[in-house]
Amino acid sequence: MLSIVIPVYNEQENIAPLLEALKSYTPADTEYLLVDDGSTDDTLKAILLFSGRDSNVKCISLSRNFGQQNALMAGLHYAKGDVIIIMDSDLQHPPALIPEMLRKINEGYDIVQTRRTGTQRIGVIKRISTYLFYKFINSVSDIRIETNAADFKAFTRKVLDNILKFEERDLFLRGVFSWVGFSTTTIDFEAPPRKYGTTKYSLGKMMILGLRGVTSFSLKPLRIAFLAGIIISLLAFCMGIYYFFVYFRGHTVPGWMSLMTAVLFLGGVQLLAIGLLGEYVAGLVTESKKRPLYLIKDTINIK
Ligand code: UDP
Ligand code: MG
Repeated sequence: MLSIVIPVYNEQENIAPLLEALKSYTPADTEYLLVDDGSTDDTLKAILLFSGRDSNVKCISLSRNFGQQNALMAGLHYAKGDVIIIMDSDLQHPPALIPEMLRKINEGYDIVQTRRTGTQRIGVIKRISTYLFYKFINSVSDIRIETNAADFKAFTRKVLDNILKFEERDLFLRGVFSWVGFSTTTIDFEAPPRKYGTTKYSLGKMMILGLRGVTSFSLKPLRIAFLAGIIISLLAFCMGIYYFFVYFRGHTVPGWMSLMTAVLFLGGVQLLAIGLLGEYVAGLVTESKKRPLYLIKDTINIK
């Protein structure tokens, strides 16, 4: 059996076209597990239109917006299939790719990754920030995440059972899929622009996800901050000696510019290092509270 897990957040116009498209590319006994991530529009109503006459269309309704990653985890906890697919609900992850993904699973791969090769009309800021993010995460962490990896994947029950063992709070699923290993293959696809609705990922939300991705898979940034501190202090020390001699040779140094530069530069580096430290400490705090990842308000067609 195949399970398709789809997090949805205010996607009322996308539900019908998505489910209809999925039907034509999936086997008859597929379960469609939609996780309503606290939508405030008519998403739930749109789902009910389908779930009323088709018991394979299932829904988990979360009590509020918990974010895409947690919504995905909620869906994964309930997925019953031998093969599981996760995808976005906005048709940017083309259902037409599913047969090829299933073929790869049948060939013996445990994880089938997908990679966006180009999104038409994607914003410049998003494109640049995505590029920088993957460059950064791959250079500082021990895992390798494919550039432009999408949360559109197929994997086997074996992989899911292992992922469900993760008990961490702020899970970064893209990292987890790379961390667990198993035989993996990647398919490229062209992501079409969103037809209905707008992106639910603001630049701020993306930066938080990115920071989580980096700090939950690597301790290197902490060391980089430490190293940067040492290098800058050494530079400041050399500068001090240089100005000492310049002073005695009688050159009066205007001084203000160099002083300000040094102060501002040091201040900036310190703030950055403290912020980074704070992110790791925040991770500890959240982790130690052991709060649930999500709360369920209601379920439809789930036994
Ligand atoms: N999503 C969610 N909760 C959120 C934000 C997004 O469940 O808090 C879902 C959203 O409905 C969509 C998927 O996550 O199915 C990806 O979001 P979106 O398409 O807005 O991101 P983008 O493709 O612009 O990166
Ligand atoms: Mg999208």
